[in-house]
Amino acid sequence: MENTVVKIDGLVKRYKDLTALDHLSLEIKEGEVFGLLGPNGSGKTTTINCLLSLLSFDKGEIEIFGKKMSPTAYDIKRDIGIIMQNVAVFEELTVYDNIDYFCGLYITDKEKRKQYVEEAIAFVGLEDFKKFYPKKLSGGLLRRLNIACGVAHKPKLIILDEPTVAVDPQSRNKILEGIEQLNQGGATVIYTSHYMEEVEQICTRIAIMDKGKKVAEGTKEELKKMIKNTETIKIEVRELTEEIRKKVSELPHVYLAEYKDSQLTVACSGGKHNLIRVLGVLQENELHIGRVYSELPTLNDVFLEITGKALRDKED
Ligand code: ADP
Ligand code: MG
Repeated sequence: MENTVVKIDGLVKRYKDLTALDHLSLEIKEGEVFGLLGPNGSGKTTTINCLLSLLSFDKGEIEIFGKKMSPTAYDIKRDIGIIMQNVAVFEELTVYDNIDYFCGLYITDKEKRKQYVEEAIAFVGLEDFKKFYPKKLSGGLLRRLNIACGVAHKPKLIILDEPTVAVDPQSRNKILEGIEQLNQGGATVIYTSHYMEEVEQICTRIAIMDKGKKVAEGTKEELKKMIKNTETIKIEVRELTEEIRKKVSELPHVYLAEYKDSQLTVACSGGKHNLIRVLGVLQENELHIGRVYSELPTLNDVFLEITGKALRDKED
């Protein structure tokens, strides 16, 4: 059995009348890239802040590395790397000196620290920016600096709170690759995001949150098996009559057929050859067919079926 790195049991956090976390329990094992996926306001940052004892809470127990977490548990904190949602670096220090400062909080040996700082710089790809001040960095590069500051001391547990929000695609890829690399190097990772594709791409296990509650948990494969959707077919087709739409909706394994903006969307549950049957109906009626897609379920479909609403994906 792998060791448990984080254990959260029955966590309740209230902000006045608002229950931000409602009996949340999580167990994260060594070596996982654990994803906390949920829309804005679902309680991800509150969870992280409680976990780190940066925020007091109303009920519940938190253990990290098998020990009770508290604001003064410095022995636990030194083995944690934190990358907060809001970038926190020193404006008056260069890229190199920022990383050196944060690394120096934990690593006192100068030679070792130099090596660690250089490794962190290479790791986020900031080699050409060592002497730059944060002001001169683009948003994506600033995020990468923020990450380097959090991981330079080689912590055993790395927590990243939405590290890719409003980041250009190149930096985003760099960040995601970096997280996988840290994990391969032995770190356990907690990753929060409202981007389902990212969570799917890098997380070994995922907890889906909504309104302060965990609504589902598992690997992406397990989560997708929890829902009835197995395939969504989308077909561009003009002038589809209600009668034909109805015919499609009555095909075996089809539980939803919608027609909007010249696109027919057909959701299926199980069965084989669903696409062929749908196309068959359209061809029988001599309709001109444009682009055709068949999509496997996404975590968005999981969120949609469980909560009744869409997990907004690309809003920024
Ligand atoms: P997420 O990180 O998933 O976007 P948060 O943990 O930031 O969610 O917020 C969870 C809920 O708690 C939201 O409804 C948010 O408005 C509320 N909230 C967060 N911080 C505070 C605070 N300091 N005071 C009052 N309400 C807060
Ligand atoms: Mg947040």
